[in-house]
Amino acid sequence: MRGMADLHIHSTYSDGVYTTGELAKMARAAGITVIALTDHDTLLGLPEMKKTASEFGLDFIPGVEFSTRWENRQVHILGYGIGQHNALLLERLADVRNARRTRLQKIITRLHEMGMDVDVPVPEEGHRAVGRPHIARAMVAQGYVKTVQEAFDLYIGEGKPAYQPQTKMTPPEAVHIIHQAGGLAIQAHPEEIGDRELALNLLRTLPYDGIEVYHPSAKDPAAQSYWLHVATERNLLVTGGSDFHGNPGRFPEKLEDWPVPREKVQDFLRRFGL
Ligand code: AMP
Ligand code: FE
Ligand code: FE
Ligand code: ZN
Repeated sequence: MRGMADLHIHSTYSDGVYTTGELAKMARAAGITVIALTDHDTLLGLPEMKKTASEFGLDFIPGVEFSTRWENRQVHILGYGIGQHNALLLERLADVRNARRTRLQKIITRLHEMGMDVDVPVPEEGHRAVGRPHIARAMVAQGYVKTVQEAFDLYIGEGKPAYQPQTKMTPPEAVHIIHQAGGLAIQAHPEEIGDRELALNLLRTLPYDGIEVYHPSAKDPAAQSYWLHVATERNLLVTGGSDFHGNPGRFPEKLEDWPVPREKVQDFLRRFGL
C-alpha cells in the first residue's frame, strides 16, 4: 500500500494531547495509511486505537515506548507487536506508572513550595501514564508560564529547580521484556540521547531489532544518514515516526508535519504482514 507511515505517536493514555479517535482522524487526513500508537510505559490505549484505526481504514501496529536510563542519559526504547497479556510486561509497566505518579506528586509539592499552586489531577492506576507534560500544560492553563517549553526550561526540565528524577528501567531490561513478550525492540530516536558513542555501545551490546532513523531529532540530513548507515551496517530494521504529542510550540505541532513514506520502513512493515 502507498502513503505515509507514522510509527511513533502519543495519545491521552500517556502525555499526548489527543485521543485515539482524534489521532486516527488526523492521520487519515494527512495521508498516513499505517500508524503505531507508542504511549510511554503503557498498553492501555492499544485496544481503542486498534478499533479507531480500523474505522478510519488505517493499518495499525501496537507499540509502547519504554523510558529507561543508562549512564545518566535518558534512553527510550520502542516495543512493537508485543503480546498484550504478558504477565512480566504488564507488571513492570504498572511499577513504572506507579513511580511516575509518585514523582509527579513530588514535582507538584516542589512547585507548591515555590509558590505555584499547580493543580494536576493524578489518576488512579489503570487509567493513563502521567508525565511532566501534564504538569507543564497545567502551568500554562493556570498562567504560571506561557508555553510547555517554558515550563521545562524554567522549572521541570532536568537540572531545573522543580525537577525530580524517576526510578527507571535499564535498556537491557526493556529489550528483554519486549522480546519475552514477543515484540520487536527498536532504539528510539538515538540522536536525542545526546551521546552517539553511548548509543552505539548499546546497539552493539544489546539484541535490538532496529533503529528509529526517521525522527524529528535527526531532522538534519547528516544525522539521518548517520543512523541509516549504522542500521544498514548492523543489519537492523529501520523505523520512523513523528513522536507527535500535540503540544503547541513543539515540533511537530501537527501530525502531518513529519511524513515518513512507507517505502522507507517497508522491511519493518513486512514483519507485520503489511
Ligand atoms: P517524563 O516522561 O515525565 O520524564 O517527561 C518526558 C516527556 O516530556 C517527553 O516524552 C516529552 O513528551 C516531554 N518533553 C521533554 N522535554 C520537553 C521540552 N523541553 N519541552 C516540551 N516537552 C518536553
Ligand atoms: Fe512524551
Ligand atoms: Fe521518546
Ligand atoms: Zn515518544
